[in-house]
Amino acid sequence: MSAGAHLTRGVEGEALHKNPPTQPWSRQRMTSAQPKLNHAHKEMMMSITTAERAYAATLDADDPLAELRNAFHIADPDLIYLDGNSLGRLPRATQALVNAITTQQWGERLIRGWNEHWFYLPEQIGAKIAALIGADADEVIVADSTSINLFKLALAALKAQPGRTRIVSDDLNFPSDLYVLQGAVELLNAAHQLLIIPSADGIHGPIGAIEQALDQQTALLSLSHVVFKSGYRYDMAALTAAAHAVGALTLWDLSHSVGAVPIDLHAANVDLAVGCCYKFLNGGPGAPAFLYVRRDLQAQLRNPLTGWMGRHDLFGFALNYTAAEGIRRFLTGTPPIVALALIEPGVDLMLQAGMDRLYAKAVAQSRYLIDLWQRHLAPLGYTLNSPPNAAQRGSHISLGHPDGLAIDLALIADLAVLPDFRQPDNIRLGIAPIYTRYQDILTAVERLIEAIRGEHYLRYRDRLPTVT
Ligand SMILES: *Cc1c(COP(=O)(O)O)cnc(C)c1O
Repeated sequence: MSAGAHLTRGVEGEALHKNPPTQPWSRQRMTSAQPKLNHAHKEMMMSITTAERAYAATLDADDPLAELRNAFHIADPDLIYLDGNSLGRLPRATQALVNAITTQQWGERLIRGWNEHWFYLPEQIGAKIAALIGADADEVIVADSTSINLFKLALAALKAQPGRTRIVSDDLNFPSDLYVLQGAVELLNAAHQLLIIPSADGIHGPIGAIEQALDQQTALLSLSHVVFKSGYRYDMAALTAAAHAVGALTLWDLSHSVGAVPIDLHAANVDLAVGCCYKFLNGGPGAPAFLYVRRDLQAQLRNPLTGWMGRHDLFGFALNYTAAEGIRRFLTGTPPIVALALIEPGVDLMLQAGMDRLYAKAVAQSRYLIDLWQRHLAPLGYTLNSPPNAAQRGSHISLGHPDGLAIDLALIADLAVLPDFRQPDNIRLGIAPIYTRYQDILTAVERLIEAIRGEHYLRYRDRLPTVT
């Protein structure tokens, strides 16, 4: 490594130290200035053999979905992107759509755009997402954010069951979901109780303890289908049946599972669900989210955020609220049309690929990664913080390491890999089968080796503040 290169990277490290990153996206932003791997780096990576490289190339050549990668904008071919579970890549069709929506629909058509393109977009895109999650077209609508949709559906479910006061969730759930449920309890004058069931190992869902906690007092079971740290996947049908056996409703968060694993809400008889469009669906940063309400429940449930978009005959401009028929009652205000419309190309690509084929590739790729972990990374101190069994996983693999955060920072700043990091020690490697190549996975492993062997992480460890 040249002195110049060292200096550049030292300066970056310094900047890191002064502004310890606390948000995954603030860290990712720093990568724009990252140096390319130089020749010296490449020679240091001795442990991946030519045969392994050739094998990865064969897997890519045999991949029936390989072409779909070309549907995405890939700005830097050397950058290994393994964070599609947090922010999916940009589809090329979305780039073209930005111009159509702004210049043509908005710029030229002006207010006529509402009738020509926009008014029914929440249910039109909802219908496409419905096809990905085993729901009917009129049971899914796109609106607001995942957190807000969770709030609307949780409160609706609690208000609909006045005799029941318990919400059951787990400590693997995404914190925002727990905050929303806590907020709902507070709004209902703390007459309710949120039970957060702990996972024994921080990886697997506490199924037995959840089943035991469900009782006649339980109004709602609310869980992430795939949990955000370990990638553990619940058996949605089994737990929904357990909740129904005591008369409780279920509210599943599909944020980390939609577009990653097959979902059949009807087969599982799920009552309510929400999910995110900017992760595996590639809808763009801050894309609106979706919500699902099983058809027979729609008339019984009341959206607590009553706004004009959810009113029956909204252009009657009557002074009193009456809920719209069907799924539209779960809308509140005017949708952010530009962000909403940009969800569609990503969803179209998922439908084109087919969830079964995507899932088959995700399983093959995660097995490949686990196999590489076992041979190359476990000896360096990396642990598998995800379930080894594919049937219990979504589509990301968490690797633990005592120096996990320092390694994560080194990967991002020095080694052209973008994973993300979740406390206490999870380096999350997201596999988005629609654009991830087997060779990307092999290269990421090579760089995870290099982060340790090349002692890149040491600089970041030394520069970390003692309290993060
Ligand atoms: C990503 C994610 C969210 C995101 O919620 P926002 O309202 O979009 O911030 C919510 N829940 C889960 C389980 C997630 O993984």
